[in-house]
Amino acid sequence: MKTLAWLQQSLSRKQPQPADQRFAQINTLVVKVTNRCNLDCLYCYENIQKKGQDMSMEVFVALAERVFQATQAPEVLFLFHGGEPMLLPAAWYEQACAAARKIAKRLDKRAKFAMQSNLVSLTPAKIKMLQDLQIELGISFDGIAERFASMRNQEAKVMENYWRLREANVKTGILTTINHQNFAHFDTICRFLVEEAKVNHFKANVVSPVGRGYGLANLSAAQIFEAQRAILEFMIETQGKVLSEYNLSLALDRFFNPSKRLATTTLCHEKRCGAGSQVLGITTTGDLLPCGRFQWDDHLYQLGNLADDNQANSFQQKVDRFHDLVPQNWFDCPTCPAKAICAFGCQAFIVRSQAQANVECLPTKMLFQYLTENQERLRPIWENGQKTRSKPQAGFKIKDKLGNYRYYQIQET
Ligand code: SF4
Ligand code: SF4
Repeated sequence: MKTLAWLQQSLSRKQPQPADQRFAQINTLVVKVTNRCNLDCLYCYENIQKKGQDMSMEVFVALAERVFQATQAPEVLFLFHGGEPMLLPAAWYEQACAAARKIAKRLDKRAKFAMQSNLVSLTPAKIKMLQDLQIELGISFDGIAERFASMRNQEAKVMENYWRLREANVKTGILTTINHQNFAHFDTICRFLVEEAKVNHFKANVVSPVGRGYGLANLSAAQIFEAQRAILEFMIETQGKVLSEYNLSLALDRFFNPSKRLATTTLCHEKRCGAGSQVLGITTTGDLLPCGRFQWDDHLYQLGNLADDNQANSFQQKVDRFHDLVPQNWFDCPTCPAKAICAFGCQAFIVRSQAQANVECLPTKMLFQYLTENQERLRPIWENGQKTRSKPQAGFKIKDKLGNYRYYQIQET
C-alpha cells in the first residue's frame, strides 16, 4: 500500500527532505485519531462508526515530521479529535506525544497537546496520561440531564468524570453547543456552569445540520440569538465577574475595541478563516482536510494525502476553491454595520449543509443591534471580563503570503 510504504521510507531517511509547503503556516492540527465513537449524538458533524479505524503511529509520526520541518510557527497544537479520542489506549498517546516533542525539540520548536472528548470513557490510566503528558482537555457538554432533554445523553456520567478530572488537577475547558434542544435553556446552563460545575469560561458554538445531523432543520436566527442574549444577560446580572463565553467575549472586544480586530487574526472569526493555512484536519489514513469540521470520508473536500509528493500549487488551488464556494452568503457584508463584530460563519459547516447558508449572519445582526442598544450595561461587563479571563489567548507572528507579519491567535476548533 502506497501510504505505508512511503511512511516507512520517510521515517528511515537520513537526509532532511525539502519542507512540505502545505504546512508552511500551520499552527494547529486537528488529528482525527479514530473514526469510532461510543456515543451517537444527533447533531454530530462526523460520520462515526462503531467499528472504525484508528490512526497508526507511523501516520502520526510522519505528520509530526512534516509539520515541524515546514511550519514557520514556533509552536504547533495537536488537537486529538475523532470520533472519540479517549477510545485509544494511553500507550498510544504516550508514544505519540513523546515522538512529537522529540521532533519539535530537534527542530527548535514546541509541541502542545489538547483533546476534545465526550468524557464517557475515563479510566484511572487515562487520568494519569492526561496529567503526565499535559494534554489540555476540552469537554463536550450541552445539557443537564434532569432539567431538559439532551441531544447527547450520558450527561450524568460526564459530570461524574468531570469532577474526577478536577480533583486530579487536569486542565479542562467546556465546549457547549447551541442546539435544537437547549437554545431556550442558556440561563439555566450558565447558572449550572457557575454554581455547580464551578466553571468561569466556556464556549458555545452553534450547531449546523451536517454529518450525522444532516437531516436536522437549521436553527432559526431567533433561536440562536435567544441563547446568546441569555448568556449576555447572565453576564450582566453577575457583572461579568463570574462567567465569560469565548465567542461573545470576542464580539464584545471587537465592539468596544475595534482596533484589536485590525491587529489580531483569529483562526475562525475572519472573512477568510485559517482553514487550509493555519489549521488542517488529518484522518486516520493521513488524508488532509481544510480543518477538523469535516468527516473523515469527506472526499469532496479532501486536499490530498500526507504521503503525496509536495504539490503545494494544486493543494493551494483546492484550499482557495473551498474558500470561494457559495459567495452569495456575503454579498451584503461591505455595507453591513454588524461586520465590526462578525465572525462570518463557518465555511466548513456552510458548504456541507443542505441549505449552504450562513445561519449565523442574521443572529449576528441581531446581536449587533442588542450590543448597540445595551452598550452602557455591557461596557463594565466587557471591562470586568478582560480582568477575569485566566490568561490571554496564546499566539505568535507569522509572515503571510504577501510578506506582511500578522499576529495569529491559536484557538481550538
Ligand atoms: S452579519 Fe452577515 S452581512 Fe453582516 S458582515 Fe456578517 S456575514 Fe456579512
Ligand atoms: S471557521 Fe470553520 S472552516 Fe474555518 S477554520 Fe474555523 S472551523 Fe474550520
